[in-house]
Amino acid sequence: MQTGTRAAAQEDLNLWNIVSRQFDRAAATMDLPEGLLRQIKACNAVYYVQFPVRFGDRYEIFEGWRAEHSQHRKPTKGGIRYSEMVTQDEIMALAALMTYKCAIVDVPFGGSKGGICFNPKKYTRDQVEKITRRYTAELVRKNFIGPGINVPAPDLGTGEQEMAWIADTFEALTPGHVDSLASVTGKPVTQGGIRGRKEATGRGVQYGIREAFKHKADLKKFGLSGGLEGKRVAIQGFGNVGYHVAKFLSEEDGCRIVAIGDVAGGVINRDGLNINHLSEYRDMTGGLKGFPGGKDLPGPRDVLEAECDILVPAALENQITLENVDRIRTKMVAEAANGPTTPGADERLNQRGVMIIPDIYLNAGGVTVSYFEWTKNLSHIRYGRMEKRLDEIYRDRLVQTIEQVTGRTVADKQRRELLKGADEVDLVNSGLEGSMQNAYREIREALLADPRLGDLRTAAFAVAITKVARSYMELGVFP
Ligand code: NAD
Repeated sequence: MQTGTRAAAQEDLNLWNIVSRQFDRAAATMDLPEGLLRQIKACNAVYYVQFPVRFGDRYEIFEGWRAEHSQHRKPTKGGIRYSEMVTQDEIMALAALMTYKCAIVDVPFGGSKGGICFNPKKYTRDQVEKITRRYTAELVRKNFIGPGINVPAPDLGTGEQEMAWIADTFEALTPGHVDSLASVTGKPVTQGGIRGRKEATGRGVQYGIREAFKHKADLKKFGLSGGLEGKRVAIQGFGNVGYHVAKFLSEEDGCRIVAIGDVAGGVINRDGLNINHLSEYRDMTGGLKGFPGGKDLPGPRDVLEAECDILVPAALENQITLENVDRIRTKMVAEAANGPTTPGADERLNQRGVMIIPDIYLNAGGVTVSYFEWTKNLSHIRYGRMEKRLDEIYRDRLVQTIEQVTGRTVADKQRRELLKGADEVDLVNSGLEGSMQNAYREIREALLADPRLGDLRTAAFAVAITKVARSYMELGVFP
C-alpha cells in the first residue's frame, strides 16, 4: 500500500477527469448503448476568449470561457465563476455537473458554466463592472447567452450585482427583446430577480440534509441517529452558500456550528459559534481571524479537520483529498461546493463508513430557484400576485365556518397565521423543498434497487444519466 503522502502527490486533481470517472462508474452499471453514453459524457461546445479591458491609460487582457456541456434541453444553464484558478477543464467539468444536477431535480435545462480567470478582490467595483460587461458582450457576439440559448447565474466570486450588469448589457446589445431579463438569473429582486434566490443553494443544502435525516435506518449504518437538533456542524466557506447553510441549520434546525473557515483561515468553538455575530465581524474586518467568540484556525483547510457530525465543504473543489482524508473526523460529508472530494478521498470515506451526500444533488437548490426566476421573467408576473388575496378570502370563510360550527372564536394571532396567503418567497421555498425531497427519494430508491451502485453519488449519476439518455432517445439525434 502507498503511503498517504505519496498517494496524495500522485492524485489526479483535474476536475474534468474526476467527473468523467464518477460518470463511468455509474455508466458501467447501466444497460445503454456505448455511443449514447459517450455523447452524454462529452462537453458539446466551449467558447474560449481573450478580451482587453481599458483601465485609464492601460490595457489588461483577460481570459474567459463559457462551456455548453449538453443541449438536450434548452436553454443551457450554469453559473459564472471569477477566480484566478479557473481553467478550461474546470469549466467543462462544472458544466457537466450542471447537466446532471438539472436532470436530478427535474429542471428542464442543459448544463453550462462560465468563468473569467482573475481575482475580483484585487479590482475595484468599477473595474469588475467593466470586465463583466465586456465578457457579456463577447458571449452575445458568439450567441452564448440568451433566454432560450444559455442563461448564466452566480457562482464563486460573483453575485447579484454581476448578474444585474450582465442583464443590462444583454438588453443594451439586443434591444427590443421583451424577455431580456430571462437571459440571466440570480439578479437583485428589484431587477427582475426572485425572492429566495440568493439563499437558495444554502436552503437546498438544508432541505437535502433534513431529508437524509428522515431515513433513520440509512443513517444508522453511518453511526448517526436522532434528528438535526444538537448536531455539530463544521463548514468550509463563509460566502453565499456557506453563510446561508450556517444560518439556516443553526437558527431553524438547532444545529451547533462548531467551526467555520474561509480562504484566510477559520474559527472554532465547540460550544457553537454565533453566526450573526460572526457575519457582522467578517463584514467589519474582512475576515474571520480574531473573532472573539471562538479560537482561530490558521489555515484554510484546518476547518475540515474539526471534529463534527456533519462536515459541509462550501468553498471550492479538491478540498478533501488523500492528503487530509485520514484526519477528517465526521460522520457525514454534505457537499455544498462543487467537486470538494477527490475520488481517492471519496473511496476512503466510503470504506470508513462516512455518509456522503453528493454535490450533484445537494447544491442543486440554486439552479432550481434559478428555474423559478427564469419562468417568472418569461411570464412577467410575480409568483402569488394573482392568487394571494383570493386565497386569503377562502381561508377567512373557512375560519368563519369553523367558528360558527364550534361556537368558539379563533384567537387573533392564530387567525392572522391561518389567513395569511402565500408570498413569492413561500412559494419559492415550498417548490424548492418539494424538488429536493423528490430528488433525494429518487436517488435513494435507485440505490436500493441496484446495490452495485454502492453509494449515493453513483446512484445520483445513474438517475441523471437515465433521464438525459431518455431525452436523447425520445428526441433522436438531429442529422
Ligand atoms: P462565494 O464566492 O460567495 O464564497 C466562497 C467562500 O469560499 C468564501 O468564504 C471564500 O473565502 C472561501 N474560499 C475561497 N477559496 C478558498 C480556499 N482556497 N480555501 C478555503 N476557503 C476558500 O461562493 P459561493 O457562491 O458561496 O460558492 C461556494 C461553492 O458553492 C462553490 O463550489 C460553488 O461552485 C458552489 N455553488 C454555488 C452556488 C450559488 O448559487 N452561489 C450554486 C451551486 C454551487
